[in-house]
Amino acid sequence: MRKQIAAANWKMNLTIQQGETLLNDVLGASIELTSNQQAIFAVPFPYLLMVKEKIAGKNNYFVAAQNCYDKKSGAYTGEVSVEMLQSIGIQYCVLGHSERREYFNESNKMLADKLNLCLQYGITPIFCCGEPLPVREQNGQNEFVKLQLEESLFHLSSEEITKIVIAYEPIWAIGTGKTATTEQAQEMHQYLRSAIADKYGKEVADSISILYGGSVKANNAVELFASPDVDGGLVGGASLNANEFIQIIKALK
Ligand code: PEP
Repeated sequence: MRKQIAAANWKMNLTIQQGETLLNDVLGASIELTSNQQAIFAVPFPYLLMVKEKIAGKNNYFVAAQNCYDKKSGAYTGEVSVEMLQSIGIQYCVLGHSERREYFNESNKMLADKLNLCLQYGITPIFCCGEPLPVREQNGQNEFVKLQLEESLFHLSSEEITKIVIAYEPIWAIGTGKTATTEQAQEMHQYLRSAIADKYGKEVADSISILYGGSVKANNAVELFASPDVDGGLVGGASLNANEFIQIIKALK
């Protein structure tokens, strides 16, 4: 049975003190996660170790980097390599968030390179995909997102692709307060799973967690996560509020 995941994306928000307080509040709720459920905190690089220490000994809580560089090592001042993340025990890394695609020109090809490095170093990528509004308005979302998968993921072997988490994040719903309807989310998640099944078979497709991202809140998480192909969420704004994020974790199937 595939994992159900609530992943917080703090983006470039909070001081370390604020982050620690938020984490204390979320962990203080003592939510019992089943072996099939996970809560992940994707935090800025300088906070990774603090979060790792806080969640030590807590079952099914993880920390994630929000990015990594696409080269192994070398003269790339200011960048962070996958090996560095591995060396401090990080198990997840968000890749291809739409903000990185937009503001840092991350291409599908570059993301394929980052993905390969993550897998090589035993880090699970949370691979983000999703269409902008004009594409949705033209009803071109399926082709758009399929191309993102083809160009970044479909070179992987069956064994490798099962080590990936996918997050479908329609760009028009990120940070806008505009959530995809449950039907829109389920429709796209089902489509993504069928595209993976066409390439790798149903068993592989059924084993991959596909998260929904885009204005997930405490008041819509239960309904969104109840959809059969929605395996939890990648949560930006609402993950900065402990009570909201606690409710979102509790909404996992
Ligand atoms: C995100 O950061 O991935 C996200 C979905 O943000 P928000 O929940 O604020 O829309």
